[in-house]
Amino acid sequence: MDKIAILCSGGDVSGMNPAIKRFVEYSFAKGLEPYFIHGGFEGLIDGHITPATYPDVAGIITRGGTKIKSSRSPRFHEARYRTLAANNLKAQGIDKLIVLGGDGSFRGMELFYHEHQIAFCGIPSTIDNDINGTDYCLGVNTALEVIKNAIDSIRDTASSFRRAFVIETMGRNCGYLALVSAITSGAELCLIPEMNLNIEDYKGCFESQIRKGRDYFIVIVSEALQNSHAVSQWFEQELGVESRVSVLGHIQRGGNPSVYDRLMAYQFTTYAIDALLEGKTHSIICYTKSHFSFKSIDEVALNSYQLDKELLALGHEQFAPSQCQM
Ligand code: ADP
Repeated sequence: MDKIAILCSGGDVSGMNPAIKRFVEYSFAKGLEPYFIHGGFEGLIDGHITPATYPDVAGIITRGGTKIKSSRSPRFHEARYRTLAANNLKAQGIDKLIVLGGDGSFRGMELFYHEHQIAFCGIPSTIDNDINGTDYCLGVNTALEVIKNAIDSIRDTASSFRRAFVIETMGRNCGYLALVSAITSGAELCLIPEMNLNIEDYKGCFESQIRKGRDYFIVIVSEALQNSHAVSQWFEQELGVESRVSVLGHIQRGGNPSVYDRLMAYQFTTYAIDALLEGKTHSIICYTKSHFSFKSIDEVALNSYQLDKELLALGHEQFAPSQCQM
């Protein structure tokens, strides 16, 4: 029986557990023997590899995070540790790997493939949605749900006092989470690197709104700008509105996987296993314009991710100072 293994690398996302469940079920269905690598590349180097069984994945579809743990592995950057990792796989007769991670993990796997001929298929998994070449990364939808619930709750308290709430979302250098969250939560202002808006340009409009009775503001700021506290101070000093910063942080990574992430996990994993069975040796399964397709590491990692133009245009329409209703 051919053997296949799965590992999670880099930041965990909700959707990894459904992918792991599908991995086990579909491997058996295809006559493969599935294995878990525990703790990402670190576990691969240290040989934490165990056979996977149905009971291992019973009930995990509802859980965020990853049952088989993830890691960041400085050692995997070094060729000698990648050789140890390859030897561990070869000792078990495993020559196919599914990797849930981001473009860094795929870069590492690409090297690993060329050095040791272990075939892999990557499944884009990051809540930042910042991988070039795929419109969707596993975990994004659940993260957006978590952010939506947080903003809705904050709005309840913001409206009970006269306050501005500056809510900081994750996303590394990418404003996707912040922009989608701002649009879909009816925020007054959205600050992301891709839009380059100047808060001073809203002063007159916001003052007018306050005179007409507006008593709270919801502002969504991407962590990339690192200016949440400065924005909060601006509301206090320039508008005289009491302000609070709420950094959502790691709650955005967790939570019960959404229906969409469960479905995407099943589809990504099915495509990934099929790819390896068809002889694809080093590809990433991507989802673009409602279609799945396989791409090379260069296609996904050579250029940085750009926000969809239509989404960005919608953001400008909603949040440009000229659109602010006096
Ligand atoms: P992500 O996969 O989410 O982009 P990282 O960039 O942190 O996350 O990468 C995850 C892991 O992938 C790193 O800890 C390292 O073990 C491995 N990795 C990343 N880039 C390389 C590389 N150029 N060569 C070898 N391994 C790499």
